[in-house]
Amino acid sequence: MTGGRLYRALALMLAALAFMFGAERVQAQAGNVGTPLNVCVARAAPGMTARALFDDPARFDCTRRQTDWGAGDFWVLSQPTRIDAGRAFQVRIASLWQQRITLHVLYADGTIARFAIDGQGATRNLALGAIIAQRVPARADMSAVRMLWHVEGASNLRGIVVDPRIAKLGQAARSNLTMAAFYAGFGGICIALFIYNLALWGALRHRFQLAYCAMVGALAAYAFSSSGALAWTFPDVLNNDRLRINYLLLAVSAAAAVAFARSFFEERIFTPWLARACTATIVALLGTAALFAGLAPWRIALLDRLYALAFLGLLVLTVPIMWRAWRMKSNYLWLFAVAWAMPIAFAGARLANNLDLVAWHFWIDNSTIASMAIEAMLSSVAIAYRIRLLSRERDAAIRQEVAARALADTDPLTGLLNRRAFLREAIGRTGDQILLLADLDHFKHVNDTIGHDGGDEVLCRFARVLRTSVPEGALVARIGGEEFAIIGDAGAGLAPEQILARLRTERMPFDLTVTASIGGSVGPLLTEPDWKQLYRAADRALLDAKSDGRDRARAAYSIAFAA
Ligand code: GH3
Ligand code: MG
Ligand code: MG
Repeated sequence: MTGGRLYRALALMLAALAFMFGAERVQAQAGNVGTPLNVCVARAAPGMTARALFDDPARFDCTRRQTDWGAGDFWVLSQPTRIDAGRAFQVRIASLWQQRITLHVLYADGTIARFAIDGQGATRNLALGAIIAQRVPARADMSAVRMLWHVEGASNLRGIVVDPRIAKLGQAARSNLTMAAFYAGFGGICIALFIYNLALWGALRHRFQLAYCAMVGALAAYAFSSSGALAWTFPDVLNNDRLRINYLLLAVSAAAAVAFARSFFEERIFTPWLARACTATIVALLGTAALFAGLAPWRIALLDRLYALAFLGLLVLTVPIMWRAWRMKSNYLWLFAVAWAMPIAFAGARLANNLDLVAWHFWIDNSTIASMAIEAMLSSVAIAYRIRLLSRERDAAIRQEVAARALADTDPLTGLLNRRAFLREAIGRTGDQILLLADLDHFKHVNDTIGHDGGDEVLCRFARVLRTSVPEGALVARIGGEEFAIIGDAGAGLAPEQILARLRTERMPFDLTVTASIGGSVGPLLTEPDWKQLYRAADRALLDAKSDGRDRARAAYSIAFAA
């Protein structure tokens, strides 16, 4: 992928995401929909009844922040409201860690309807987006005027009754549908990215691909659980247990993200202490999540704080990683930074919420899904880019190796095969082979006459004569100082006389006349012993050529060479 194409792909993807998460529109139709209610809080005391409390709203505190009350049992009273007679509606609140909620609805005639929601009731009443939605059936004759919640065993980590709303049933159904589309989209992205990266891992075996698969797998599971889809699938799960699962899965996703960063960047980025910090962060994330899942509600506030701190550690960790990546000129820094900007920003917002610095908001609580959808897609581009760089490196390495092997196989002076490569290539050729051994005549004299460099030049020109006068498929090698060997299929037209004739007319340095003698033999060349036999015969023939006066070819036994 060229830089330009990469940018275009990124821009397209961002546009698609902007469309998907057109935040304003989604928020108007999804999440916790309906008319918000203001609420006031009173700590539960023995003997309190719904009727008495509806009659005495002054006992409620409307100014103190909910989270300031700490854990315990509470009554929470809504502002007066009016839901017309003959209309069913939903009372919606955010799902939180609590044992039991009882909703009391006061009607204009003073009657009270009661809806008990225990841990499993919360599960069964869960709307997508993890909203506990209690349906209040219509009363033909009477309008509802006020809500009162009795909340028992509230951990009050984020509040007691958070984001209470009255929604029309149609509104609620639309929200569920929009949220279903939102989560299904995210699930689809995760599944596709998971499969595609797993398949790629099968081919390429890069560790970061496995970490990435673990991350999107855990995220898909987290989306399944945190959305409430898990509750729809397993209605008997206690809502608090579902929350434990959320804590675990989010931590596993984050830990996998760290493992991904660790294996995605070049190894030089990670100094020993940074590598240790990554490991420590992974341990902290998984450890605090396991503690929360295993021990809550025991010391729940502390466990939740520890969990939040592990995520703070994760955010802090991104700083030295980015800094090192920048210092060490990582190829992947900018892609990584773009991909992680959103999740990091939202994780910061969530963390600020967890640490009580900003108020709870549905889209802060659910930000992980949206930002990780973006991250997962951008990371897949990052992975594609990384694989591109890796394959470019691999191609270069292959080219280098090919070059190195060619170098190891060639005689540096003439560019012909050297003896080793020649034997490797020659032995095993099927069918009868002709071996020619060519030796320059009186080469010592040549050297003496025109110098060693001149002799080298003669060797080069002789090599060229050989190369250009053998048929295709023949091998030509320099197997000694001024000794050359040629192997070709018998009958392929290797003609020594022709070689000698061409040599005689080849222009040599100082117009020196250079001749050679050739000895030839024919036979099979399947094995090493075949080679020895063939070579011995050709060498004997070469000696014959020399002793017969040089500048001629001789064949072993009765082979006659065509002129
Ligand atoms: P003959 O006709 O009997 O083959 O005579 P000759 O002089 O060619 O015989 P000999 O094999 O004794 O000599 C070969 C010479 O080739 C000796 C050596 O100095 C020279 N020689 C070997 N390798 C090189 C080389 O790489 N470059 C040059 N210039 N000379 C070389
Ligand atoms: Mg010689
Ligand atoms: Mg010689």
